[in-house]
Amino acid sequence: MSVFDSLVGQSEVVERLKSATSAATSGSTTQEMVHSWLFVGPAGSGRSNAAVAFAAALVCSQSGCGTCRDCQTVLTGTHIDVERFNPTGLSIKAEEVRELIARSAWSPSVGPWRIVIIEDADRLTETAANALLKTIEEPETHTLWFLCAPTLSDVSITIRSRCRHLQLRTPSKTSVEEFLLTNTSVDSKTAAFAARVSQGHIGRARFIATNQEAQSRRKDVLALAFSLKDIDSCFKAASRLLDTAQEQAESENSERDSKQLKQLQDAYQGTGRSLISGGSKAIKDLEKEQKSATTRSIRDNLDSALLDIATIYRDVLVTQSGSDEILNIDLKAEVAEFASTTTPKRSIERIEAILEARINLGRNSAPLSTLEALFCALK
Ligand SMILES: [Zn+2]
Repeated sequence: MSVFDSLVGQSEVVERLKSATSAATSGSTTQEMVHSWLFVGPAGSGRSNAAVAFAAALVCSQSGCGTCRDCQTVLTGTHIDVERFNPTGLSIKAEEVRELIARSAWSPSVGPWRIVIIEDADRLTETAANALLKTIEEPETHTLWFLCAPTLSDVSITIRSRCRHLQLRTPSKTSVEEFLLTNTSVDSKTAAFAARVSQGHIGRARFIATNQEAQSRRKDVLALAFSLKDIDSCFKAASRLLDTAQEQAESENSERDSKQLKQLQDAYQGTGRSLISGGSKAIKDLEKEQKSATTRSIRDNLDSALLDIATIYRDVLVTQSGSDEILNIDLKAEVAEFASTTTPKRSIERIEAILEARINLGRNSAPLSTLEALFCALK
């Protein structure tokens, strides 16, 4: 077993990480190992998993056995020398980066390295990126920086020119299917279905394959594409989609939020009922942070729902071109019927409208009006 086993369909990247690991372990002064790495790949390709696996391999005495205490703690995010910075807000601020830099300078406690993983480095603000630049340029000898982003152009040119790049690919349908069969207990039919509809997104494939609620939510979302008849139905679909994304975000976050709040309240509990000094400010800050995390979850859920809806129009286009290689095999009849009522040109326009809405949502446009405009354009 190796920590790299979980990287599906990424043999090239795995080879490079393995040779970097052995160069780092042997202390040889070859070119394989550097201090700053940039992992890029589309959502779901496993770019943060690759960074985490690499970190485990570097702190493990057996180059990433996957079972020892070091490997396990890195994988679960509790290793003392490996910090996974996963921004909950919509952007990473300079202040947060400065705190990370200060911690990164500490000597490692158990292994040879202190490793900082910044997931979603595309969310660095310009000042945050500038704050990081000098550190990445001249890092402490014991500190490694792993940055993750969807594409190279999501990271400022000054940052990326100082990192070694690793490009992850969208894994093939077959490799996702094999991954599900080996790592979950689902049957082959479910694995094939989830691999097909998730389009190479490992996390989503696993979620759909193993979660009934996710399967029915996907069906509800896709049904919206077939419900758009007039302005009224478009507006209804928009608010329905937003409600679904909100409910999903709340159910995902509420348990964690109340646990964090309770811990903080306990930490600031004085004698009697009052909080000791600083308590109410800390609680206010936490609540603000949680609110921004929920906003981000809602946007992420909307984005993934829109990607799902786009697959319907993609399937319609495929059907119109005479092929039956559709993704949503469970909706074949609906797709075929829809395809007969519209033209390939309209299908392309619809896919483009979804892309535009996703870009607008990414730029913080108001979700409801963006969705209303989108569904009217899809009608
Ligand atoms: Zn290990």
